Amino acid sequence: LEEQVRRSDRLKMIGEVAAGTAHEIRNPLTAIKGFMQLLQRALNERQMGRELDYVRIVMAELERVNALVNEFLLLSKPKEVKRVPVRLGHLFGEMLPMLRNEAVMHDVALRYEPRPGLPAVFADKEMLKQVFLNLGKNAIEAMAAVKGGTLTIRERAGRAGAAEVYVDICDTGPGIPAASLERVFDPFFTTKEQGTGLGLSICQRIVHDLGGRIDVATGAGGTVFTVTLPALQGA
Ligand code: ADP
Ligand code: MG
Repeated sequence: LEEQVRRSDRLKMIGEVAAGTAHEIRNPLTAIKGFMQLLQRALNERQMGRELDYVRIVMAELERVNALVNEFLLLSKPKEVKRVPVRLGHLFGEMLPMLRNEAVMHDVALRYEPRPGLPAVFADKEMLKQVFLNLGKNAIEAMAAVKGGTLTIRERAGRAGAAEVYVDICDTGPGIPAASLERVFDPFFTTKEQGTGLGLSICQRIVHDLGGRIDVATGAGGTVFTVTLPALQGA
């Protein structure tokens, strides 16, 4: 528990610093992008192919910085959390098409196992979407590294009387090595060349704020991230 408190304090601090600087970085980024586009047009008219390639590289790198800044902003505490009863079925209905796109591109089959009659959860729908999107993307990326597999998203009801619901995000990827396992939720821990290491920190932060938790089980056959969320009584 002490470890969790320490981690959550650290996350909070990083979040505050990040939020402050992220906004400052975003404005010049927008300007750079705008002028790069003008440059691109001018070079295109003069048919300057090699210079156009340079500009394309700059734009691609800009996109990476942009993505990183957006993740920083997510990590910082949102100003208002809109908590409403959320039906997981609705949420996945809106979110799965996005994930399916990612899956198809990486030879991953996507299976969704809804649980009819599952109570609603009390949460911010957009933030919860972000959680499942991040977990789903990680699963797909893990399987892309081994040329495909199956991503299963499974809803489960809590024990009778326990006001909880579970969502399992299961992959058939290579699993997480023991040495990495205790660090995967640390901000900036990544094993990917282009990773930010912020995805799971953001997920954990959001789920904790909602009063839930994330557990992970992993082995040679793949990995399961289980998200536990408080359910609405009698909903
Ligand atoms: P990123 O995806 O940018 O690397 P994350 O915080 O989302 O950052 O994940 C941190 C690390 O946890 C990943 O780099 C990877 O090593 C590991 N990881 C997360 N999910 C999985 C998974 N489903 N299978 C294997 N490894 C995973
Ligand atoms: Mg990730």
